Amino acid sequence: MTEQINIPAVTANGIVKEYVNGTFTALQDVAMNIYEGEVVAFIGPSGCGKTTMLRLISGLERPTEGQLETFGIPIVGPGPDRGMIFQAYTSFPWLTTKKNIEYGMKVIGVPRHERERIAQEMLKLVHLEKFADSFPNSLSGGMKQRVAIARTLAQNPRIILMDEPFGALDAQVRWEMQEMMIEVIEREKKTVIVVTHDITESIYLADRIVFFTRNPGQVKEDIPMEFKKGKRFAQKEEMFDQDGYAQMERKLFAMMREEIIATVVA
Ligand code: ADP
Repeated sequence: MTEQINIPAVTANGIVKEYVNGTFTALQDVAMNIYEGEVVAFIGPSGCGKTTMLRLISGLERPTEGQLETFGIPIVGPGPDRGMIFQAYTSFPWLTTKKNIEYGMKVIGVPRHERERIAQEMLKLVHLEKFADSFPNSLSGGMKQRVAIARTLAQNPRIILMDEPFGALDAQVRWEMQEMMIEVIEREKKTVIVVTHDITESIYLADRIVFFTRNPGQVKEDIPMEFKKGKRFAQKEEMFDQDGYAQMERKLFAMMREEIIATVVA
């Protein structure tokens, strides 16, 4: 039998990112492997380079030094294997929900019938079937973000990159979106990287948390969510009952406090 080599979805080695003509180092010697089907959260204090790392993986920015690959192929720019979801809603106001979802597929040449079939499937997945013909300005913030998620998924990227995707939503909608995201992840089996500053959200969504420290941005710790025993919870409160959950939350809050104190003292 030939040996199967498990190529990571994302590989980063020796990543350095400098700004302001090399006078500011946002990321210093960052390395990680993210495997297909994994959900990884980047967390850490503000300014530790989480978004910068995500943007490097998206290909929107290039590292100053280091190697970055998706599925063993060097990243030279944005590509169809990666789909990005931002905090700000990115729907086209002149298109209906369904047309917004179809838009990206149209650009990449998916035939009309296929586009319509996939859009219908995605509308169902993000619970927006009743709003297929609505325009973005008549939708709530949570619904608009669901359109953005559906549109990205419709293009079938293997890796979904999310930058504070629920940051603009109120607490209750945020909670609904987190649970919907678990449903999406379980069904679509994508590799997901999510940047968030919300500790509870990161524990709920992720299989693994990469905690960044700042000045310069580095990986402080790579923390697998072992207490979940490989499960993802449809309802958030199921997670609260798990042995090890409270300890994990406590550990991450303590790490965050350490970072904040370090900044105040510096
Ligand atoms: P985080 O997402 O963890 O809050 P960022 O990745 O946005 O942090 O930023 C990391 C650091 O790099 C910050 O100090 C930020 O000000 C700086 N930075 C990010 N983008 C630029 C840029 N285009 N030019 C200069 N500095 C930048």
